[in-house]
Amino acid sequence: MRRLAAGILVLASLALTACSNDDHAQVGPASSPTSPTATQPVPPTQPSPTQTPTARPVTPLPTAICTPGRFTLAQTEGPYFKAGAPLRTSLIEPGVNGTRLIVTGYVMSRDCRPVADARMEFWHTDAQGNYDNTGYRLRGHLFTDATGLYRLETIVPGLYPGRTRHIHVKVLPPTGPGLTTQTYFPNESGNANDGIFNAGLMMSVQETGDGRVARFDFVVNAS
Ligand code: FE
Repeated sequence: MRRLAAGILVLASLALTACSNDDHAQVGPASSPTSPTATQPVPPTQPSPTQTPTARPVTPLPTAICTPGRFTLAQTEGPYFKAGAPLRTSLIEPGVNGTRLIVTGYVMSRDCRPVADARMEFWHTDAQGNYDNTGYRLRGHLFTDATGLYRLETIVPGLYPGRTRHIHVKVLPPTGPGLTTQTYFPNESGNANDGIFNAGLMMSVQETGDGRVARFDFVVNAS
């Protein structure tokens, strides 16, 4: 119980951090006439009768903040994407070792509505900086719930030459084009030397007694 309570406090803390950092996720044209400084909260969590069972979060996050009309920056897919990764909310399996990491947040449309049933593909290296290019280790996909919430359990990826620490992500809403991008970690010495790195894609990361919890909200072109 003590660990659960601590986890809830960490998630609440991350939400507050995200709310205070309105430039953490988005760049791009503001084609909407809506004020770029306006904010709109995501509606409260509601159960979804159509929710994919594996997408159900352990702890709902508090309100997210979204700037209407501003999309999350797209970045290169890179050479290591592999189609066909399994449906799962945890990439931890026998043989996967490293610092436990929860990555969580919301997927929203550009008018800041939650995007339910968005397919999210994640892939990253193991703790030693190696991709699995023959199997699907540390690769998987999941779906957002009715509130646009996602939650992935994995490990902190390692480093490989030429890149700072990162996680590759594809966000595919039920309608509208998909987003391919990468997310990054704060306080990484490699961030300054990585030509692909963008601070707007940096997650908010908190240490817990059982690894790290990272928060990032995606805004995609979904109708
Ligand atoms: Fe990579």
